[in-house]
Amino acid sequence: MMIKSALTRAITSISLFSLVALAPLTILADQEEAPVEATLKITESPLPDNCYTAIEGEREIDTVVVHYASAINWFNAGFQNILSDEGKEYAESIGLTRENIHDHKYDWKLVKYIFESYKVSAHYAIGRDGEIVRFVDDNDRAWHAGPSKMPNDGRERVNNFSIGIELMSSHPDDDKTVVTHEDAYTEEQYTSLKKLIAHLCSLHDIKYVVGHDEIAPGRKTDPGPLFLWERVRNEDYSPVDCD
Ligand SMILES: [Zn+2]
Repeated sequence: MMIKSALTRAITSISLFSLVALAPLTILADQEEAPVEATLKITESPLPDNCYTAIEGEREIDTVVVHYASAINWFNAGFQNILSDEGKEYAESIGLTRENIHDHKYDWKLVKYIFESYKVSAHYAIGRDGEIVRFVDDNDRAWHAGPSKMPNDGRERVNNFSIGIELMSSHPDDDKTVVTHEDAYTEEQYTSLKKLIAHLCSLHDIKYVVGHDEIAPGRKTDPGPLFLWERVRNEDYSPVDCD
């Protein structure tokens, strides 16, 4: 019954919008719990194609890079100068001001406008409530890592062989209100990240889960010391829950 009710919940809560992106359902009658893929919902919100490299043929993917992003610096003059009219209109539509930025800083739609403006990208974003959003297809090369080198095998240009996941969060250097583990990442985000990595493991030969700060040390601070690595990977960088 647990399986049935979980699946029913998953199916009835799926909007038409995300129906096409539902991972294949696997029903295993003899198991107590439904496999994680069965309840994975993904909201499709593609970034424009000038923010990533479209790849023909199959891209070899073996790494997941964990990042954070927020819209805390939305009102910086430099950013406002390059922000599109569409982005400005969206901010206006939600009543965004300098005073209430903390209420909206983790809105992934704002973060998506920031990515569009800077022509960068990641494959996925995970909201504070655990919503998983896809910006770029797995097979395409998103521009999330920049100059980078793997901490274990020394491979460079990590964008070539990785999937980038942005958790809506921040760091004390950028946002003084982020102090504790709980301030930085929600339980819902860890749950969704684990499900998403398990799903990616079912599609690709994922060997490593690394942080942006580990592949670009000194240059990047995300996901930072407030991220609980033991939730998603083992000591050798291999993902947990991926067989
Ligand atoms: Zn990053």
